[in-house]
Amino acid sequence: MAITVHRGDLPAHVQFSGIVAVDTETLGLKPRRDRLCLVQLSDGDGSAHIVQLAAGAYAAPNLKALLADPETVKLFHYARFDVAVLKQYLGVVAAPLYCTKIASKLVRTYTDRHGLKDLVKELLNIDLSKQQQSSDWAASELSEAQIAYAASDVLHLHALKAKLDEMLAREGRAGLAEAAFGFVPVRAELDLLGFEDDDIFIH
Ligand code: MN
Repeated sequence: MAITVHRGDLPAHVQFSGIVAVDTETLGLKPRRDRLCLVQLSDGDGSAHIVQLAAGAYAAPNLKALLADPETVKLFHYARFDVAVLKQYLGVVAAPLYCTKIASKLVRTYTDRHGLKDLVKELLNIDLSKQQQSSDWAASELSEAQIAYAASDVLHLHALKAKLDEMLAREGRAGLAEAAFGFVPVRAELDLLGFEDDDIFIH
């Protein structure tokens, strides 16, 4: 399993095929306040690429091109947050996309546990450590534990998608899921505009 850390941008020779798992690490949960530090990517083959972004150094043309590529599906867990933070700092809309959290909520109606750790445990029988979740992602030298944790957030998304796609098909909700994924960039934009605590569909 190869994990490669890149500073500033993805090298041009790193290519992804069709569906790329994407996660971000930031300094906190408020996209306008807490800056983007890492973007993790995986092809689903057990390897991961981590792009480390320094404060204010968000040029990253190769990374932006990949995220904005209409031919590449960006596979997230809780896309709403990542899409907002990627829009805020890189200025790109990371679409088309698939969100394992939305898919889970549409089919795993027997539980309210839709965290990545819960999904990976139930659907793949893998125990995911969340120990490094709260750490200083802006550190210029990341620890081995941070790197392993950051990578682990993208390594299982393809396998999860395969399981969730079976469940969506079984329950006849694949079309609904696709439509919900399509709305995520709008939801993310509403979050960035200050509507994060409002459900605009509520009476
Ligand atoms: Mn993460």
